[in-house]
Amino acid sequence: MSGAATTPALAIADAVRRRERRAVEVVEEHLAAIAEVDGGLGCFLEVTADQARRRAAEVDAAVDAGRDPGPLAGVPVAVKDNLCTQGVPTTCASRILQGWHPPYDATVVTRLAGAGAVVVGKTNLDEFAMGSSTESSAFGPTRNPHDPERVPGGSSGGSAAAVAAGLAPLALGSDTGGSIRQPAALCGVVGMKPTYGTVSRYGLVAFASSLDQVGPFARSVADAAALYDAIAGHDPCDSTSLHQVPPACGPAVGSGVGGLRVGLVTELTEAEGVQADVRRRVAEAAEALASAGATVDPVSIPELRVALPAYYLLAPAEASSNLARYDGVRYGLRVDGDDVADMNARTREAGFGAEVKRRILLGTYALSAGYYDAYYGQAQRVRTLIIQAFRRAYEDFDVLLSATTPSTAFRLGEKVDDPLAMYLSDVCTIPTNLAGHPAMSVPFGTDGAGLPVGVQVLAPALGEAVMVAAAAVLEQAAPPTSLPTVAAPTLTGAGTGRGAATGGAR
Ligand code: GLN
Repeated sequence: MSGAATTPALAIADAVRRRERRAVEVVEEHLAAIAEVDGGLGCFLEVTADQARRRAAEVDAAVDAGRDPGPLAGVPVAVKDNLCTQGVPTTCASRILQGWHPPYDATVVTRLAGAGAVVVGKTNLDEFAMGSSTESSAFGPTRNPHDPERVPGGSSGGSAAAVAAGLAPLALGSDTGGSIRQPAALCGVVGMKPTYGTVSRYGLVAFASSLDQVGPFARSVADAAALYDAIAGHDPCDSTSLHQVPPACGPAVGSGVGGLRVGLVTELTEAEGVQADVRRRVAEAAEALASAGATVDPVSIPELRVALPAYYLLAPAEASSNLARYDGVRYGLRVDGDDVADMNARTREAGFGAEVKRRILLGTYALSAGYYDAYYGQAQRVRTLIIQAFRRAYEDFDVLLSATTPSTAFRLGEKVDDPLAMYLSDVCTIPTNLAGHPAMSVPFGTDGAGLPVGVQVLAPALGEAVMVAAAAVLEQAAPPTSLPTVAAPTLTGAGTGRGAATGGAR
């Protein structure tokens, strides 16, 4: 291999567009890396090798004919398996969707093709994106490339681990309560949740429709920004898609933080359960922004303490309604029964795993007559308070800074029997989803055991550009990050810790 597994996405696209590299070679190298290490990691549920080869040949043919294939020309991209891909199984890591082949592509998948990217496969996730460790997948867990005995985070664990291990320079995930940022932090890569409505949800299998957003994973902030720019924009097929043109993020990389007002959020950094190592890294990140010219001050937003309970009423309520469509008639699995109701019950009993059933029960309860106002209604009111609290904070600050997750990667099995402990993994990421705002996680050094730590930059709605500018400064200032122990050969062999793993050396 010639090092494709460590090359930034933008460098691949540049070389392919100039005809210095061929997309078919790039894709072969990544397919070889997947074949070599994914057996031990479990990032992919489906590798679309033939399609990827065909697509790469088309990209090369366009270059040969003097046409520009687009800003992501020839870049391999891994796609979370809750995004519809025409004719390619889309399972949401659930038995209930086994055998289902979507008749259409998600808008983001169409946009990837329009930008010249090459989809190499569908990645593992917690069933229906419900979880924080990728252990609730019906098809087995994904392992963390930094330590295969540990989880990659979730629910987009397959996408995060694939990017960390050098199996794809870019990946798509979805973030309802932290499912891009939390696994990005645990795997030592960049993950971004865009403003609600900037990226189309058409073809994203719905979990909690008022919270779900699609977003990028990459090994550098510049690559994540490029992927965001390729997928963002109005889509008439998504009724919640914004008509405003979202701000381009690519140009913001390198614009610096001079004069920027940064608020260090007490509740998302000092909260009980946040590891001392993680707190220390957040403090160092704050110092790095200050030395780069920002003004950093602590800010307390007490309302954020009730974000987690509000989310765990609202998200299951929406999920219980969205998942009603899996009835044994329209999709995938069917288990026959005595009559339609019996068939429906048997199908759902066999098709859904324990966590999905738990969410459906919680959500149905929260929405039931007599409890609706006390639970669902109250949680909606809390959501409004959180939006107002953020609005006040953004009167004084341009961006906010916090931990992405309370802890670094935990051991496989450590939290599977304790849903509450699992839910607490998202305490720092959930408030953003309730507000509909953007936020991203950037690798910032390691804990005492050498595991990656992520710090989170939060911004007001449509504040992606300023968020990316701050994230790029943090990336440049970040302490060394360890290399994954399980990775594409070129990645494990490459240079010193920093740069190869985080893409910091652009
Ligand atoms: N871990 C959170 C949950 O289980 C968030 C999931 C997500 O963002 N998809 O609901």
